[in-house]
Amino acid sequence: MVQQTEIHDSITKELKEIVGEEWVSDFPEELHAYSYDMTEHPPSMPDYVVMPQTPEEIQKIIKLANEHKIPVVPFVTGNNVGGLTIPLKGGIVVDLKRMDRIIRLDEDDMYLIIEPGVTFGHVKRFLENTGFRYCYPNAPPFASVMANALLGGLNNLSLKHGNMSHVINGIEAVLPTGELIRIGSCALWDEHWWSLGSLPDLLGLFINWQGMSGIVTKMAIQVWPKKPINHILVVLSYDLASTYDFVRKVTHYEILDDLLLMSMETIKMVNGVPYGKAVHLEGEPRWALVLDVSANIELEYKAKYKMIHDSFKELKKADPNALFTTAEVAEKLYGRRMGDFQRLPFAIGGMLEYGGNTWVGTYMTTKPEAVVKGVEKAFEIIRKYDFESCLYTRSMSGHHYFAFRFLLRFSKEKGESERMQKCNKELLDTLLEQGAFPYKTPAWASETIIKRVNENWYELFKKVKKTIDPNGIMNPGRWGLK
Ligand SMILES: Cc1cc2nc3c(=O)[nH]c(=O)nc-3n(C[C@H](O)[C@H](O)[C@H](O)COP(=O)(O)OP(=O)(O)OC[C@H]3O[C@@H](n4cnc5c(N)ncnc54)[C@H](O)[C@@H]3O)c2cc1C
Repeated sequence: MVQQTEIHDSITKELKEIVGEEWVSDFPEELHAYSYDMTEHPPSMPDYVVMPQTPEEIQKIIKLANEHKIPVVPFVTGNNVGGLTIPLKGGIVVDLKRMDRIIRLDEDDMYLIIEPGVTFGHVKRFLENTGFRYCYPNAPPFASVMANALLGGLNNLSLKHGNMSHVINGIEAVLPTGELIRIGSCALWDEHWWSLGSLPDLLGLFINWQGMSGIVTKMAIQVWPKKPINHILVVLSYDLASTYDFVRKVTHYEILDDLLLMSMETIKMVNGVPYGKAVHLEGEPRWALVLDVSANIELEYKAKYKMIHDSFKELKKADPNALFTTAEVAEKLYGRRMGDFQRLPFAIGGMLEYGGNTWVGTYMTTKPEAVVKGVEKAFEIIRKYDFESCLYTRSMSGHHYFAFRFLLRFSKEKGESERMQKCNKELLDTLLEQGAFPYKTPAWASETIIKRVNENWYELFKKVKKTIDPNGIMNPGRWGLK
């Protein structure tokens, strides 16, 4: 025991020598903040938290962790909604918030080079006085842009560009054994981060790896020219199958920036209706579509508007009470947040008031029968467990696939975590049957996936992991690894 304390103290001392005294903590009160997140996942305490500022400091931390075979968990804000930064095996949480520089904007090749601590709020403010735009999730403005891209997140240009890992041009990263690597055109030239280039692509070693393959220290992400005309159109409807036909039609036109399909419960939750009260009332519309349309000139916008409106007329034949309106009118009907879809990023009020928020977030096939049946079956489960039916979906990558998820509030205060765990497990099993695949996969869900996945895929995954992280220090306990 004495010996263990001595080792602990000597590691604390070495960490302080690496990053400076004030950027290391092993106080339980401070470690506690890193032991849990908003989800139903059980907490687990780290042994140290450290806040480096340079890749060189990260290299030294990783070398130290290898010497002592201590787990390392990369962390920015822990807003991943999957328990992914909970240190399942303890160890060192490497909080990257101090690395928050936007290194530069390349206006010709249209990309930004960012550090891990750069948030959506930073990027939004940085781009304000430029001719470029990035895209934003419905996550809080203080979440990490880099972590969102590494996790293949979905933002408000995902209908155009797919998940956010597809807009990465290149990275610099510290490997689990401490070497600094470059991937993309930046591996050839220090100054050129314009694409992944033509080397055999190793970026995949970092996408969806949840911090298990190293710590990314720089990333180039694409930005795009701002459009002078931006509008949000809203459709409120009653019949899911016809609404989804409309979705297919307007996404296939390739004229939208983004399309969200939500249940009315989600609209209520987003607009601040308290937990437990976001329910659908008799006679109200059942579904809400938010369509982002941008254009370079008025004529282009008018043409797009006409195409969407004509499709809506088709929808109205099948769903006579459906409504077509603007964000401004929807704001008056349902609250200010309807307009905020155009003013992303924003912190969704009312989601965390009882300290519990979770989802089974998936990407799935766009097949209408799978989507419609998926909603029906999922709603049955959610209602059985007495939670709110907050459906939140997005059409991805020109409607090649669909983001299918439920934003579920629950109360940790009232001890609802166990009920939520059961609900999520049942949801996952049911959605898998409909062709849905969880993203930002929590440890419990990855166990279900491993049972179904191609076994040679899993063998190769384990071999790669063993090769790059021989001591298994990076975020252990995930994807079935000790
Ligand atoms: C209310 C709400 C709504 C949300 N809506 C959306 C949405 O619409 N779309 C969407 O995509 N997401 C959404 N999210 C999730 C969230 O935006 C992203 O997962 C987030 O951007 C990740 O940033 P973070 O700071 O929370 O990362 P963290 O949770 O700190 O880290 C996430 C993962 O990445 C790893 N990691 C972090 N940094 C590095 C690094 N530099 N190198 C290697 N690994 C690293 C961590 O170990 C962890 O596994 C939402 C979250 C909330 C709370």
